[in-house]
Amino acid sequence: MNTQNHLRNLQYQAILERSKQPRNKGKTNPIHQHQTGNNPICGDSIELTIKFNQTNQIIEDIKFQGKGCALTIASADLMAETLSGKTREETLEIIEKFRQMLKGKIVLSDDLRKLSIFQGVSQFPIRIKCVLLSWHALKAALK
Ligand code: ZN
Repeated sequence: MNTQNHLRNLQYQAILERSKQPRNKGKTNPIHQHQTGNNPICGDSIELTIKFNQTNQIIEDIKFQGKGCALTIASADLMAETLSGKTREETLEIIEKFRQMLKGKIVLSDDLRKLSIFQGVSQFPIRIKCVLLSWHALKAALK
């Protein structure tokens, strides 16, 4: 196995593990915003709930529920973990960076390194929809 395949395999293992034991499944309490997302190509369907802080500018908590492939679940879970505590503005910036990484255009900085497990997906355009499902839903919820 060459180094690149080895790396991709490790990333895939990380995605599988995360999808089996997501840490952010459920609903926020209270629910300030909710948004659904569907990807009919794969059969993924999720619902996001969001809790904001008192000034409504910082995302205090994100939870998700629904069904989907390993990519969808792992991505929603990591998204919730990464963006809880971020401002609306920071969140939109990170969503954009994540999209650019999936297109193979940029490499993420160290603070977002955890999200790099999805880097290999850039070679499978049809699966990018799975990975971006929750991210698109969040973006829509922030508008
Ligand atoms: Zn999927």
